[in-house]
Amino acid sequence: MPNGKPAGVACNHLTAERRCAIFGLPERPQVCAAFMADEQVCGSSAEEALRILGWWEQATA
Ligand code: SF4
Repeated sequence: MPNGKPAGVACNHLTAERRCAIFGLPERPQVCAAFMADEQVCGSSAEEALRILGWWEQATA
């Protein structure tokens, strides 16, 4: 996504199985490679992660 990922929009590289289609490839953004998963950000399920991310997007809009 050359202009960045807008809030509330899934990344173009996210597969239907919620996996990164460019994982390990050089075109994967550095910010993604540097991100370390943490339960406080990711929760304990995909649903919880989406809820937490939604909160962060609203809080930082
Ligand atoms: S890791 Fe980065 S590039 Fe891959 S799907 Fe997630 S946001 Fe997109």
